[in-house]
Amino acid sequence: MSQADLPSSKILSKNASFDSGEFVVAGVSATKIAAEFQTPVFVIDEADFFERAKTFKDSLESAAGEKSGHCYYAGKAFLCKEIARWVERAGLALDVCTGGELEVAIAANFPPERMEFHGNNKSVAEIRRAIEVGVSLIVVDSEIELERVASIATEMKRVQKILIRITPGVEAHTHDYIATAHEDVKFGLSIASGAAMKVMQKALTLPSIELRGVHFHIGSQITSDEGFTLAISRTIEFLAHFTRESGKAIAEFDIGGGYAISYVESDEALDPKTIISALVSAIRDESERVGIEMPTVSIEPGRAIIGPTTATIYEVGTVKLVELDSGSRNYISVDGGMSDNIRTSLYDAEYSVALANRISTESAISSRVVGKHCESGDIVVRECDLPSDVRPGDLLVTPATGAYGRSMASNYNHVPRPPVIAIRDGKARVIVRRETYQDLLGLDS
Ligand SMILES: *Cc1c(COP(=O)(O)O)cnc(C)c1O
Repeated sequence: MSQADLPSSKILSKNASFDSGEFVVAGVSATKIAAEFQTPVFVIDEADFFERAKTFKDSLESAAGEKSGHCYYAGKAFLCKEIARWVERAGLALDVCTGGELEVAIAANFPPERMEFHGNNKSVAEIRRAIEVGVSLIVVDSEIELERVASIATEMKRVQKILIRITPGVEAHTHDYIATAHEDVKFGLSIASGAAMKVMQKALTLPSIELRGVHFHIGSQITSDEGFTLAISRTIEFLAHFTRESGKAIAEFDIGGGYAISYVESDEALDPKTIISALVSAIRDESERVGIEMPTVSIEPGRAIIGPTTATIYEVGTVKLVELDSGSRNYISVDGGMSDNIRTSLYDAEYSVALANRISTESAISSRVVGKHCESGDIVVRECDLPSDVRPGDLLVTPATGAYGRSMASNYNHVPRPPVIAIRDGKARVIVRRETYQDLLGLDS
């Protein structure tokens, strides 16, 4: 047996590394972070966030030139007031998909003219609030919602700009994509069934609605351009069809998010510059082919901006070696679990993990990192090789937990949710504090 491998720079944030066995983010060690902020704790490499945000924005602008729309940060990946302020400072736009995310953006003074509101079932109150604060675009998901937005805008004496969310019959997920004619999904209006055309035509007749364009989001953790380019070609053909039928050109095309990152060494992340330039070219070429003016292009990366910037640090509480027919497995229990990272139990997500507070010269053994919740499925990392001498009090780090980690966190078993610490140039500060028992009890009558 060899020693455990440490996660490479492919998995770590830009300014994170291992120094004599210690995980270090922008000059601050895991031991220091744990001593000051306790565990479990999310740590964001702040400079890395700005770099990734800028890379996507620049990639869109250099590929699309005067046809570049907005680079939206998809807030659902992780949003708090400080992140909204970073997104603003980085010059990106922001996509929110609930009234709660909208309130965070408003509380952070995010400019509403750079905001877009998504969701398949926005309430009347959410739509009213979005129009009231002046959210630039509402992405309409259904005919019922179109009517709802139109009547609220009429009542408020406003004209609301919208995109229509269409489903091009392409579902992309990780290593493959599925092309279908009929979409078995809750989101959007189908091109193939004629539903999208019908609602687009209807939008043109509503005086309180300004139809700006279309939107799709075909999946998550997408590793190649095939699904995207098929969806683009179907959508551009649809737009040409719409223009022939209605005499109206469509100005904006938003191609959503879903760009893959590396969670484990074998994952291939999409290079932002390469993928965005390929997708913009596809839109340009297809528009030329069908004879319409190229629409402006917007994108909505969430995971690919926040995911790799953040790591979770846990403390080990107990260790149990189990003998199996196939060998042995070391169960390592940490002080968090499915309440701070549901992705492993929810969709068998994989993560890298490493000892974060010291060097071990012991050999690596087959291990499983589990949480403290009353559920066998409470697994943080299903299969990993960690040193055989991992013991109570050690720290473990799981990198790339920035997206859909803290944002999907729960209070299962009344476990308070961990804080989020931003680190830059050797300085660590709290951007979301740890929940307390007082916070939890505050809801009870
Ligand atoms: C989830 C979502 C995104 C972001 O997806 P990522 O995989 O985080 O890039 C963008 N747009 C819409 C509409 C979404 O639902």
